[in-house]
Amino acid sequence: MKITGVDCHVLLAPNFDKSLTSSAQDSFIVALYTDEGITGFGESDVNPWIAKACIEAPGTHTMSLSLRDILIGSDPCEIDELWQRMYVGTCMHGRRGAVIHAMGAIEMALWDIKGKAENRPVYELLGGAHQNSVIPYASLQPSGRSFVEYRESLCAWAQRAKELGFRAVKAEVTMAGPYAHSGLNESFDRHTEVVAAVRKTLGPEIALMVDVQYMWADASTAYQTVGQWKEFDLFFLETPIWVDNLDEYARLHDMAPMKIASGEWLATHWEFEDLITRGKIDVAQPDIGRVGGFREAQKVCRLALTHGRIIVPHCWKTGLSVTATAHLAFNTPHCAFIEYLPPHLCVETLRRELVQEGFDFKNGRIQPPQRPGLGIQINEEVLRRFKVA
Ligand SMILES: [Mg+2]
Repeated sequence: MKITGVDCHVLLAPNFDKSLTSSAQDSFIVALYTDEGITGFGESDVNPWIAKACIEAPGTHTMSLSLRDILIGSDPCEIDELWQRMYVGTCMHGRRGAVIHAMGAIEMALWDIKGKAENRPVYELLGGAHQNSVIPYASLQPSGRSFVEYRESLCAWAQRAKELGFRAVKAEVTMAGPYAHSGLNESFDRHTEVVAAVRKTLGPEIALMVDVQYMWADASTAYQTVGQWKEFDLFFLETPIWVDNLDEYARLHDMAPMKIASGEWLATHWEFEDLITRGKIDVAQPDIGRVGGFREAQKVCRLALTHGRIIVPHCWKTGLSVTATAHLAFNTPHCAFIEYLPPHLCVETLRRELVQEGFDFKNGRIQPPQRPGLGIQINEEVLRRFKVA
């Protein structure tokens, strides 16, 4: 089989709002076509115009080749060999960052093709299922332009997630710091009040995680607040400190009364090696598209296992990436949860309309995908309607 075409779709919800902290308002979808009529789809969480340029830019020398040129005419089922050629061939402009994120979407599409060609779901090709079901956590982002509105909206989402049978919930509690929601600038004590209110809403049985989106400057400042959060029994605290500040992550790991999670933005397992060994994080959060694809994500999972850490993948995109994440999780025994932006509990149009997921969700658990490849269905009309480049 040979790849005959590459389409890069830049998608943007018409109601997008640049002041929001939500990358689910846009998407980058790549479609790979083959001479046997099989089409594979992949997605990545990166500025979609940049990802398109990463794939379509012409090459000029052996260390800066065109991804599109490498793909056309290649066998889509030789995934590892093809990834290596893309990685080595783009190293002078790639190796990390946006090129790796774009390659993640391509690699996802290659697995979709291989699965369809062999009539098997992707998780089987990755090494088979090591879990009978996967537990998604409902990832909740509040709205509101005042402290009270923010707290009440988060508690209302949490209540609905509970009613829908979710066994785990993550609350974004970000009213200060570089990504403070809706122009809020609240004291750290008020963050404690919100976490307390959400825990009270959920009761003691549902796992609760908190994402503060890089809110604190260092471990000491973070600890002044999160040192008081033991009573809320958090499963983890996500990205408390700026992503590059690995020594401060390690210090907080040594002090904090809960697990520390990070890694949503990273590209390649090499970056996770630093985060795990020097940053001492407890929970690694690879995003399949951003990290460079399933194989890189699997390397992160193996690194985590070697160092006694757990995996909870990041995913803030359409049902395409959500389904890809489920395939990875079925293959990963130390994957505790996957992130799940519930289509019915979010405002993101693309999440709600673009993709029919490739699995069933029952009693708070995801059942193994049955269909070949990723098993997703893209709504072509929505793809055309939201395509801007
Ligand atoms: Mg996050």
